[in-house]
Amino acid sequence: MPFSSEARRDHHPGVRSAYEHMARRNPDEPEFQQAVLEVLDDLSPALTRHPEYAEQRILERLCEPERQLMFRVPWRDDQGQVHINRGFRVEFNSALGPYKGGLRFHPSVDLGVIKFLGFEQIFKNALTGMNIGGGKGGSDFDPKGRSDAEIERFCQSFMTELHRHLGEHTDVPAGDIGVGAREIGYLFGQYRRLANRWEAGVITGKGLEWGGSRVRTEATGYGSVLFTQRMLERVGKALDGQRVVVSGSGNVAIYSVEKAQHLGATVVACSDSAGYVVDDKGLDLDLLKQIKEVERERISVYAERRVGARYVEGGSVWDVPCDVALPSATQNELDADAARVLVRNGVIAVAEGANMPTTPEAVQVLREAKVLFGPGKAANAGGVATSVLEMRQNARRTSWSFQHAESELAETMSDIHDRCEEAAERYGAPGDYVLGANVAGFERVASAMLAQGLI
Ligand code: GLU
Repeated sequence: MPFSSEARRDHHPGVRSAYEHMARRNPDEPEFQQAVLEVLDDLSPALTRHPEYAEQRILERLCEPERQLMFRVPWRDDQGQVHINRGFRVEFNSALGPYKGGLRFHPSVDLGVIKFLGFEQIFKNALTGMNIGGGKGGSDFDPKGRSDAEIERFCQSFMTELHRHLGEHTDVPAGDIGVGAREIGYLFGQYRRLANRWEAGVITGKGLEWGGSRVRTEATGYGSVLFTQRMLERVGKALDGQRVVVSGSGNVAIYSVEKAQHLGATVVACSDSAGYVVDDKGLDLDLLKQIKEVERERISVYAERRVGARYVEGGSVWDVPCDVALPSATQNELDADAARVLVRNGVIAVAEGANMPTTPEAVQVLREAKVLFGPGKAANAGGVATSVLEMRQNARRTSWSFQHAESELAETMSDIHDRCEEAAERYGAPGDYVLGANVAGFERVASAMLAQGLI
């Protein structure tokens, strides 16, 4: 894969050689290569200012995970048939704190996908200003259509191997696609049994009765909308009265809809992998939650039950005209064609609720059209930041109110916004949140790595 912005920038030789080194060593991992490229593309000026980064091979070290675990996950379905899945945990970088990042259960998961997510997580976590390193894990297990008992057995088998690698000061997983409150419960239960320790700080996203934090469920979606609001404020606008389209209908999407509605926006569409729904009056959030969280049904059911809503099978949710677009489903879901449609329809802001949902070509289209663009590392960091709030409450054996947790989240999102803005300005690209996020996250990890010696 060539550098995406070859024509725009001359790359520092250290950047070029680190990228080539990584690409050679990880030839069959396109998502990982893409994630690395998206960061490295913006780092040349930082390497020019800090020759010690290249001397100490900080980029090469960053691209090589500290540890990669791959393991067998055998389990039995309700019919008694045996299945074998593959489990992963990539412990990418712990210079700033214990490895922190979610677990994804989805058939698309492979080592390259987990590495892309783990790599992104390093910079995202650094941007929060908190002491967490980057890691990610998961399995190619497909939870769709599986019974509760099957999910429970799978989670127990998965944790039977993973538990020996975890610890509140070592590695602290959480949820991601396919891993929500139910799965976290089964995972924590099995950890507790095997470790013979009630160690709340070993996993986040726990239930409120047993060490969870208020607002953790809502945090990623709320955070991405709060980030969007801050970007809009900077140019004298607000979410109030805007028409919003969200992609996906999982945890991030649902709570993005909720927060956008709180702030006065009308959210007119959301989607799943089969199609999208359009509801010009504004999505009925209670109905959406009932269908997705309680019944675990497809989004098409929404249109069957809501007068005036329509379902479009297949197609692109980005065809629905909007002022603000919040890609909140999965990687590479918004391509250059979709970005052009958004621009043509007058979009003013795009913020990534998911990890790397916008292709590099689409980012380029949006950047050139001067659309406000919040990259996932910054915009969706509210989830992991609230995981740290959960760890703080666990350490103090306390539990905060919803208002308190939400105000901490809002402050964190505002700080992340300001860190990106400040770094972008410092590097001569005011308003470029992609560059700002990459540079600010990188500087924090790189200086910790330098300080801690060659490890
Ligand atoms: N999976 C989420 C993310 O992508 C949350 C991770 C966490 O809370 O540790 O950041």
